[in-house]
Amino acid sequence: MSGVDVVNQAYADGLAAGQLLLQRCGDCGRHQFYPRIACSHCTGSKLTWVRAAGGGQIASFTVVRRGVSADFTAPYVVALVDLDEGVRMMTHIIDADPEQLEIGMPVALDFQQVAIAPGRQPVFRPAAP
Ligand SMILES: [Zn+2]
Repeated sequence: MSGVDVVNQAYADGLAAGQLLLQRCGDCGRHQFYPRIACSHCTGSKLTWVRAAGGGQIASFTVVRRGVSADFTAPYVVALVDLDEGVRMMTHIIDADPEQLEIGMPVALDFQQVAIAPGRQPVFRPAAP
């Protein structure tokens, strides 16, 4: 996220409080991520913020084997995770052997400081069996 503005202020405040907040539409009931001014499903404007439960599954991932800078120690995993709320987000998978990851693997939300963004960012780790 390049900056905090009126649309994503609540999201940023949530991260600062250790919560991943998603928008939920009061018209169609669906969730969306990233934050927008209207519902991406029905264009409704009755959006409220709800806390993500923290569960999801790996939809896709790639293993980066050459760090782009000293801030990124390779190998690391960039993934698309489908949250249980029905939204997909790009994130990192931490504390996992990249060779053991699979599409569909359940993951759990965590937070991690990253060098290129302020505050803690949402990441995921393999869910406990
Ligand atoms: Zn909607």
